[in-house]
Amino acid sequence: MVKRSNHKLKRACVYCGSTENLTIDHVVPISCWKQYRIKRRVLDNKSNRVIACQKCNQEKGKMDPKVWFEKNPHYRERFLREAKYLSDTVKKIAGLI
Ligand SMILES: [Zn+2]
Repeated sequence: MVKRSNHKLKRACVYCGSTENLTIDHVVPISCWKQYRIKRRVLDNKSNRVIACQKCNQEKGKMDPKVWFEKNPHYRERFLREAKYLSDTVKKIAGLI
């Protein structure tokens, strides 16, 4: 029981920190693979996936992640802390490195 609630506490939106209505978000929308001249599989795997609440996921939608972080600069710090495992390609596209 304790383990379960600890686990639950850890799961939060990588952007705003909400623990409500969590979904899986692709940091770089998969549909952008051509635009960035990379292979689709570079985006369609776990190094591009994060937990995001439904609200952030919907607002972000097909937005370029760079634009998303420009619009929401206060999300950047949490994101960098929570999403260290993302691939360098994803981080570069998102303007984080
Ligand atoms: Zn959120």
